[in-house]
Amino acid sequence: RPRLQAADEEVANKIEEFIGKLKRLKEVPSPFTLIIDDPSGNSFVENPLAPQKDEALVVTHYKRTAQQDAMLGLAVTQAPSLRAAQRAASVLQFHTNCPECNAPASTNMKLVQIPHFKEVIIMATNCDACGHRTNEVKSGGAIEAQGTRITLRITDPSDMTRDVLKSETCSVEIPELDFELGMGALGGKFTTLEGLLKDIKELVERNPFNLGDSSAPGRAEKLREF
Ligand SMILES: [Zn+2]
Repeated sequence: RPRLQAADEEVANKIEEFIGKLKRLKEVPSPFTLIIDDPSGNSFVENPLAPQKDEALVVTHYKRTAQQDAMLGLAVTQAPSLRAAQRAASVLQFHTNCPECNAPASTNMKLVQIPHFKEVIIMATNCDACGHRTNEVKSGGAIEAQGTRITLRITDPSDMTRDVLKSETCSVEIPELDFELGMGALGGKFTTLEGLLKDIKELVERNPFNLGDSSAPGRAEKLREF
């Protein structure tokens, strides 16, 4: 099947090229744009100049569509237990298994106040056996009155240290790379811009179907899953 092989090779080359581009973004060889669109309004990009205006950052609020409302309604069905936990304690620890090596690990659940934004629940898992660390952000079921679209123009490597909160319901787009990550593909994360790019790279390495023009069907699938 020489033709099939050639097609596979082409896809593999395309993925490798894309991963290379993603890695180089960290050095900001040329300005690029990060767009986080979150119908729940629970995502955030740090303005290091706050409360002064940040010319590189544009945040717009929008009214959700009926479809987005329906999607969010289903996405928060797990919220009551989180709300209960939120009431119970500011730090909570429970036992889990490492998602990498399955060894017993512990997850710390804590409330974190994000400056100039709001309080979120962060679940951090550290595995002593293999060193795997994850953090996941839960919005605790609260949904803002409007959706948010955050556009950050990245012009300098110092932008990589900006805090980024991406909720479990947002999509992430980098138009310069023709890249769009569907809603919910990465889960909720509180990280830096550099950390987010690393997570995207790892996700693409694991699941190249998030790449480029093939992302549209993936997005539709995600919506169906909800
Ligand atoms: Zn582990």
